[in-house]
Amino acid sequence: MSDALFRPIGHDQVREWLGRVVTAQRANGAYLFTGPDGIGKSALALEFAGALRCQSPTNGWSCGACNECVRIARGVHPSVRSFAKPDDKSAFPVELVRDIVDEASKKRLEPGMRVFVIADADRFNDNSANAFLKTLEEPPADLIIVLLAENLAQVLPTIISRCQPVRFSPLSDHQVKQITAGWDQLPVNPDSREVLIRAAQGSPGRLRRMGEAGVLDTAREFLKSVRSDPFLASEKLIDSIQGGDDNEGKRAQLREIIALLTATLRDRLLGSLGAADLAPFTRPFPDEPFTADHLAATLITLDDLRERIDGNVNLKLCCDAIALAWPT
Ligand SMILES: [Zn+2]
Repeated sequence: MSDALFRPIGHDQVREWLGRVVTAQRANGAYLFTGPDGIGKSALALEFAGALRCQSPTNGWSCGACNECVRIARGVHPSVRSFAKPDDKSAFPVELVRDIVDEASKKRLEPGMRVFVIADADRFNDNSANAFLKTLEEPPADLIIVLLAENLAQVLPTIISRCQPVRFSPLSDHQVKQITAGWDQLPVNPDSREVLIRAAQGSPGRLRRMGEAGVLDTAREFLKSVRSDPFLASEKLIDSIQGGDDNEGKRAQLREIIALLTATLRDRLLGSLGAADLAPFTRPFPDEPFTADHLAATLITLDDLRERIDGNVNLKLCCDAIALAWPT
């Protein structure tokens, strides 16, 4: 099986349950998949579409190899469409919803079920939700809508009430390791890979972003200078954020750096409490006098800052706050 095709690792319960739904031909018109970003909701929605159309399903699930599965996995099947909020919009645009509704009402191109996978369901505003509710409540008989959302609490109740909810949990580090084994944008060094996998918290998508953004190098540079010169460390942090002119890109990059620094401190906290088997990068330097209290206090600050990044906090001030909060 090539990289482009289904890679059924993790989320076994969800896959089994949906497989039973397909076998019993009891699929609902609309599902809402929720769980952290990058953990495979979209991939599993495509597997589900594959299961509904597969020419040689196994236990009600997609084979990943027939003509239907291959076209779905490659994103070129006319009956399986994916939609997402454009990057430059903060809310899911009502114009796009109207296009989806229009598309839903059109005659199918090939026999069999159609599936629309719609990401960013937590970014619908009242206008876009209102334009969608009728279709969501009563999709055409040959259409299944799968909405994806990172945060259930941010999905409008009018959307939630019209969907069958399906919760996704983060993958284990071992599963992330299996999924990302062949990815060439990740460090070759096994220790570096291990640190990033721990920081990605069960999300291969997040791991990919961390690898692409070079967060490990950034964190190394930060750690080199933070104790002797926190302001220099803060300068290095802000300089490393190169998400172009796009402010959202810079915020996303800083979010991943904070996640890595958090993972580093979390490991050091575990180390100070006697846990062994930590990745070398996250072990304390020999002269570091941190106590568990120091580490816990800094972790709380980082957690607070990560939440603020989603708001409108000044990124330079945020980097200063990280450097100044670092235990000394
Ligand atoms: Zn198949």
